[in-house]
Amino acid sequence: MRIQKLSSQLINQIAAGEVIERPASVVKECLENSLDAGATKIDIEIEQGGVKLIKIRDNGCGIPKADLALALQRHATSKISTLEDLEQVATMGFRGEALPSIASVSQLRLSSNTADQEHGWTVAGTHESLSGEEPAAHPPGTTVEVRELFFNVPARRKFLRTEKTEFQHLEQVVRRIALSRPEVAISLTHNQRVIFTAKTAQSRAEIEQRVAAVCGNSFIEQCLFIEHAAAGLKLNGWIALPTFSRSQADMQYFFVNRRMVRDKVLSHAVRQGYQDVLFHGRYPAYVLYLELDPRLVDVNAHPAKHEVRFRESRLVHDFLFRSLQSALSETRAGSTATPVLEADIPATNMGGSISAQNYRAQQGHLGFSIKEQTAAYESLLAGAKADRNAVVEASETEIPPLGYALAQLKSIYILAENAAGLVLVDMHAAHERITYEKLKASYSQRSVQTQPLLLPITITVSQREADIAESSADEFMQYGFEVQRIGPEQLRLRQIPALLHDADAEQLLRDLLADFLKHGQSTRLKEAGDEVLATMACHASVRANRRLTLVEMNALLREMEQTERSGQCNHGRPTWSQLTLEQLDKLFKRGQ
Ligand code: ADP
Ligand code: MG
Repeated sequence: MRIQKLSSQLINQIAAGEVIERPASVVKECLENSLDAGATKIDIEIEQGGVKLIKIRDNGCGIPKADLALALQRHATSKISTLEDLEQVATMGFRGEALPSIASVSQLRLSSNTADQEHGWTVAGTHESLSGEEPAAHPPGTTVEVRELFFNVPARRKFLRTEKTEFQHLEQVVRRIALSRPEVAISLTHNQRVIFTAKTAQSRAEIEQRVAAVCGNSFIEQCLFIEHAAAGLKLNGWIALPTFSRSQADMQYFFVNRRMVRDKVLSHAVRQGYQDVLFHGRYPAYVLYLELDPRLVDVNAHPAKHEVRFRESRLVHDFLFRSLQSALSETRAGSTATPVLEADIPATNMGGSISAQNYRAQQGHLGFSIKEQTAAYESLLAGAKADRNAVVEASETEIPPLGYALAQLKSIYILAENAAGLVLVDMHAAHERITYEKLKASYSQRSVQTQPLLLPITITVSQREADIAESSADEFMQYGFEVQRIGPEQLRLRQIPALLHDADAEQLLRDLLADFLKHGQSTRLKEAGDEVLATMACHASVRANRRLTLVEMNALLREMEQTERSGQCNHGRPTWSQLTLEQLDKLFKRGQ
């Protein structure tokens, strides 16, 4: 076959292959055009998953009669004209490919009117086979009607999924766009049924309503609003508390200059921001908006513009990571409590204060020996002594966020009373978190306090483990362990971190060896570091089935209030929960 020039219809169809994969892509391109036209209201009508009909009407600036045909010509755009423009694109579209591509694989009608025309005009077909402009009744704005998508590309039509699946994809696009522009009113109908509507949102409360409409109420109830600006970068949005993590990465919306993107740099930075508070295999949920100088982002990296390239990706990464990390570290227990009810709790009734009643309750409760009591918690107790005085004084003035301990349930939960009502604490999870944060702090300051073992422990291990213990002796020392190899398969443990004096030292060392083996020596210590510390914290923590005194419980509550990230344990589970008086009243149908 000789070389010949492709027909422009075929060229357009090839281009369509890149940008128009399915009904959802048509909707994406048309919605972006409406946004670029400054629309404040967009109505979307769909039939049969978009295959039969996609009709999108907006109230934007419209297309003048003289430009209608041009809008359907390939590489014709009103959005950029020079290379300089391309380097700082401020619109969603700029390639001039969408409409001609759509027209080449469907039956398209474009109707539009501008503010200064007497009436609207409509054209149908492709650029090559265009009907002449005909007058049409149309308010200022544009309507694009796309019928019988892929009717002339059977191969592509065959690849479409069921009507339901295609519609789901399409709806997802609409929801994303709805999040990207809260100020634009949007409605979506499918086979004449209203599926989604969002009215103009301006205030933060209104925007949160829209976020809730897309991500659900439970997301907005369990998230933090963040806002941070530095080095020409501006970030704001909502990030879910770690306790609201998901098993899939299905609730992650990231907008760069209001364009939804999926970007490795960004998602990596977010993951790192959550690194310490999320269990392995769980995914954070978020709606985040990043704004920066358009010259610092290349949006022309992908035909469908899903991906972007940052000129200074390191800067963007660090900015994002730091913003999230610091926001999440604020999730100390009590700081995100449910709104406090105006409950009138007399100060004398405060649990944890040393009233005779409580004292008796405590005595009655404690079925364990003095020895058991004093065996551990020196550090907790030391803090608690001071705390006991503080309790008496504070109870007159201000109730701490987590309140005062009342009792212990099944040796697992602490019950406490605060201004809002009842507080329930998973004491093992809480203590683990606190120990972890302490270990991290002392480790990062290279000041892990060690404590010699009264009797050094000899431990038999595998040769590999003995090897790594020997070669990493310095690193073990940094973690507070003095380990010595005394034979091909024997180690001697002489010192352990003081914070862990309570732990089963042998088991702890075995777990650490497993961590070290897993990461090998090549991994940078810092990366493995937090995991090692987490292993250590897990060992040190109050095991379930330990009885605590009220003083110890109160000490734990105060520590939780002071510890960063103590709202969830190292595995992202909550450490405490609030039952408000209101909820309790409901439970007992009081006042109904
Ligand atoms: P691009 O958006 O990349 O410019 P398109 O093929 O999507 O290319 O659109 C071509 C042109 O048609 C746009 O540049 C714009 O001038 C015009 N246009 C398309 N849709 C609309 C609309 N909804 N409102 C106003 N103008 C539109
Ligand atoms: Mg476009």
